[in-house]
Amino acid sequence: VINFNPGPAGLPLPALERARDELLDFQGSGMSVMEHSHRGKEYEAVHDEAISLLTELLGIPATHQVLFLTGGASQQFAQVPMNFLTPDTGADYLMTGVWSEKAFEEAKYYGKPRVAATTVQPDKHYTRVPRQDELKLDAKAAYVHLTSNNTIYGTQWHTFPDVGNVPLVADMSSDFLWKRIDVSRFGLIYAGAQKNLGPSGVTLVVADKAFIARGRKDIPKFFRYTTHAENNSLYNTPPTFAIYLVRNVLAWMKGLGGLEQMERQNREKAALLYGAIDRNSGFYRAPVERESRSVMNVVFHLPSEELNAAFVAEAKKAGMVGLKGHRTAGGIRVSTYNAVTVENVRTLATFMDHFVKTRG
Ligand code: PLP
Repeated sequence: VINFNPGPAGLPLPALERARDELLDFQGSGMSVMEHSHRGKEYEAVHDEAISLLTELLGIPATHQVLFLTGGASQQFAQVPMNFLTPDTGADYLMTGVWSEKAFEEAKYYGKPRVAATTVQPDKHYTRVPRQDELKLDAKAAYVHLTSNNTIYGTQWHTFPDVGNVPLVADMSSDFLWKRIDVSRFGLIYAGAQKNLGPSGVTLVVADKAFIARGRKDIPKFFRYTTHAENNSLYNTPPTFAIYLVRNVLAWMKGLGGLEQMERQNREKAALLYGAIDRNSGFYRAPVERESRSVMNVVFHLPSEELNAAFVAEAKKAGMVGLKGHRTAGGIRVSTYNAVTVENVRTLATFMDHFVKTRG
C-alpha cells in the first residue's frame, strides 16, 4: 500500500525490517530491545546513537542539545510558555493555522502571548505564511513562536523570518528533517516523531542550552527542559522502543545520503504533485499561494464534494491511502514525508492525470 497519511505516517521499509528482524532477540540478548532496562548498556547505545545520528544529519552545533520527550507537540504548546513566560511577560506568535492557534491558546495560561502576524482569512482558513514586512515583533518578547509547516492547510515557511535577538521557537512536527536547516537560528525546535522520523510516543526537541538555562525554576521539575538536558533524556523512563525506531530511521536516512538527498527527493515529489495540479488547473484547484506551497502536505480540491470522495475511493482501489483532506480544510491532502518515495508520488501524479481524463 502507498501510504499518504498525514500522521502517524508511513515509515521507511528498511527501518521496519530491521526492527522486525531484531524484535524477539536484540543483539543476541534473548529479549526485545523494549524489554531492556533504559539504564542498561544495550539500550543506552541505541539512545546515544540516535542522538549522534541526529546531531550529524542536522549539523546541530555544540550550543544546542537533543532531547527525547513525551506528550507530543501538544505538550510542547504548554511546556514552552511554562518555561519561558511569567504572568507579566509576552511572547510573539506567528499565526498560520490550526496548530499555531492551539499553541497560542496554551500560552495564555502562563503569560501574555501576542499575535505578531496572522494570515487568517474571513472564512477562518489560511492560504499562506506572513511576509517579513507583516511581522509586528516586540523586541522584549520572551520568544517568537512559529509553525514551520502547516499540516492541515499545506503551507510552509520557506525562509525563516528575521526575529532579531529574540529566541525563535518552531513547531516542526510535520517538516522536521525534510532538509538541512541552520539550527543556530533557533532557541528551540520541537517535533512529534510520527510524521517524518518514527512512530508516535517520542517528541524530539533541539534546544539552545543557554536559552533553556534561562527557563523558570519554580515549575515542576519534570516540565523543566533543563531536567531532561542534565540527564541526557534519561531522567525517567523514556519511550525506549520509539527512540529505537527513530534510530533505525535516522540510520536509513544517513545510508541514503543524509538530508541533502532527503531534500532532493522531497523537492522532486512536490514538483510532481504541483505539476499535476497546475497542468490540470481547470479541474484541480490548489488554494495555497505559490510562495507558501508546502513540500510536505500538498492540498487541493476537485470541483465537487462527490468528485473529492470519488478520487479518494478510486485511489484506494489503486492501492493509495490517506488522501482525504483534514476535516477543517476539506478536499484532498497528500502527505509526502520522507518515507514516501518519488516512485510512490509518480504513481499518484499519473493517477491524477488519468482521473481528469475519465471524470473531468
Ligand atoms: N503541530 C503540528 C504542525 C502538527 O501537524 C500536529 C499533528 O498533526 C501537532 C502539532 C500535534 O501533534 P501531537 O499529536 O504530537 O501532539
